[in-house]
Amino acid sequence: MAKVMKSLSLKIKGADATADIDLINQFSKRKLSPEEVYCFSVVMCDNDVDRDLERFTNKTLDALAPMFVGKTVISDHSWRSGNQIGRIYAAAVQRTAEKNQAGETLRQLIGKVYMLNSEDNKATIDAIEAGILKEVSVGVSIKTRSCCLCGTSFKFQWSSWQYECENHHVLGETYPGEGWCYENLDDPRDAYELSFVAVPAQRNAGVTKSAADHEVDDAFDILLSCPDLSEHPRFPELLKFMQHSTMSAADREKRKKILAENEKILRLYEKE
Ligand SMILES: [Zn+2]
Repeated sequence: MAKVMKSLSLKIKGADATADIDLINQFSKRKLSPEEVYCFSVVMCDNDVDRDLERFTNKTLDALAPMFVGKTVISDHSWRSGNQIGRIYAAAVQRTAEKNQAGETLRQLIGKVYMLNSEDNKATIDAIEAGILKEVSVGVSIKTRSCCLCGTSFKFQWSSWQYECENHHVLGETYPGEGWCYENLDDPRDAYELSFVAVPAQRNAGVTKSAADHEVDDAFDILLSCPDLSEHPRFPELLKFMQHSTMSAADREKRKKILAENEKILRLYEKE
């Protein structure tokens, strides 16, 4: 079972603490008054196709909604106790007036989050309101990944350097009469967390892939066992790909710097 993480730029709306206080009190150790909480609703994920050509299906979003209720909200992907900033007290799928890239009605999974309106949380609340926390990501467990055109699973083809399903639909290609080939994420088993990240949002939905990608390991094993790679007809293409990967690492470095900057700003908030 793979842990899948998906990010979206942070979209937040205020929520009515007075109206929601009974829901919130289901999860608090002692009875809280509306004045003691800060609550809001946030778009956690949606049914759009992302940069990895993957998307949560409508059925997956519906199944994820109850799984998120009661789950912890953390900041910067860290479960350090100081980084556990809130709890999701309600979650529901909403239809929007927009279309997703597959041409269907865009649906969003909206979570309602409460935090204690305390001194400890003041810096985070200020950061949310000042727009410093810009990205939200979910971590969920997904059992089934399949081709949206035929329902079979994808495999990486070393001969073509592409993902292909059992019926040879290539991920990202469009087939006349059939449509665009992307990957459906189905059968969610659990929702782990919602995380707020203080980095500038990527254009469209960003994706964080786990480092434990065995296909990449396999690829390196094969490449390292080649006696002479330069003879391969696809070598120039591979070289370009490798250079691209290196650029992504530079981007990641940039991201790390921005995160450190944001930490500094957050600390300033804490001092005030
Ligand atoms: Zn297919």
